[in-house]
Amino acid sequence: MKLRKGDKVKVLSGKDKGREGEIIKVLPKENKVIVDRINIAKRHMKATKSLMQGGIIDKDMPVAASAVAIVCPACGPTRIGIKVDGSLKVRICRKCEGEL
Ligand SMILES: [Zn+2]
Repeated sequence: MKLRKGDKVKVLSGKDKGREGEIIKVLPKENKVIVDRINIAKRHMKATKSLMQGGIIDKDMPVAASAVAIVCPACGPTRIGIKVDGSLKVRICRKCEGEL
């Protein structure tokens, strides 16, 4: 998993294809990410003791990491490469080799 929280990504497939958003959570075990306002599921909630008001709640559902591409500020959606700089691993854009 090369993606991180805070990364700007573009959705490559699914119902939100073409949209961009920021990663708000990474789920490494499932190889999925949760992207702000992407893959929203409408949940109909019944009123309960803890949730006084029922209604429809928007929930960001995880999307497969392979279904999103990181957005490079210089060239747009791209793939992540890794450059080893001493003992540091730096993520770079495969197109322009700029740091991500
Ligand atoms: Zn680039």
